[in-house]
Amino acid sequence: MQDTYKHKGQRKKLTGELKKKGIDDERVLAAILKIPRHFFMDIGFDKLAYQNKAFPIGAGQTISQPYTVAFQTQLLNIKKGDKVLEIGTGSGYQTAVLLELGARVYTIERQKELFQKSRVLLASLNYEAHFFYGDGYKGKPTYGPYDKIIVTAGAPYIPEDLKGQLKVGGILVIPVGDSEKQLMYSVIRVSKTEFRKTELGNFMFVPMLEGKTNN
Ligand code: SAH
Repeated sequence: MQDTYKHKGQRKKLTGELKKKGIDDERVLAAILKIPRHFFMDIGFDKLAYQNKAFPIGAGQTISQPYTVAFQTQLLNIKKGDKVLEIGTGSGYQTAVLLELGARVYTIERQKELFQKSRVLLASLNYEAHFFYGDGYKGKPTYGPYDKIIVTAGAPYIPEDLKGQLKVGGILVIPVGDSEKQLMYSVIRVSKTEFRKTELGNFMFVPMLEGKTNN
């Protein structure tokens, strides 16, 4: 696949749209301007890649809408060197955005097909992350605690294990709701025992599934 001037022009237009919708973190916009989103989508969706929409990526899953990616990333306020846990690697696009911002990323995916595909793709684009295949509900305590945790699937509730893997001062961004729609939450760990939760509007994600992984 190639990244042409046409694609770059479309990305410029997309970042303009995101800005209008309220994304004002210049570093997030710069990452979106730089990363060829069409590389993360199946051939055939190439021409649609810079629309502000979610698209199928296989295994019944979707690549999140660029606005959603930008919104969640902006909420995380990534600092260079932040240790970030991502639940739901999917296409790997959100992973690439986090890496562009200088995060050290640990990412978990429960669909084997997507886990394998995104790992190969990101390596081919010279992005380095730690990829794990499995269920993200329990997080990844071995590598924690984390500065930031992002969940990119709609969760029925906020998993205690994820809260417990945040550093004090750390931020968890997670959409919570049913399969129709979810409310975005930012959860800040203000002390060892206290968390401050903020509601940030409605979104729509594929569900965060619990239990057995598919092969
Ligand atoms: N950030 C991704 C979003 C993909 S959609 C992107 O923009 O491409 C959400 C992903 O979460 C799907 O790939 C789905 O398989 C995965 N997922 C759902 N439940 C999960 C769980 N319990 N653990 C890990 N990944 C999960």
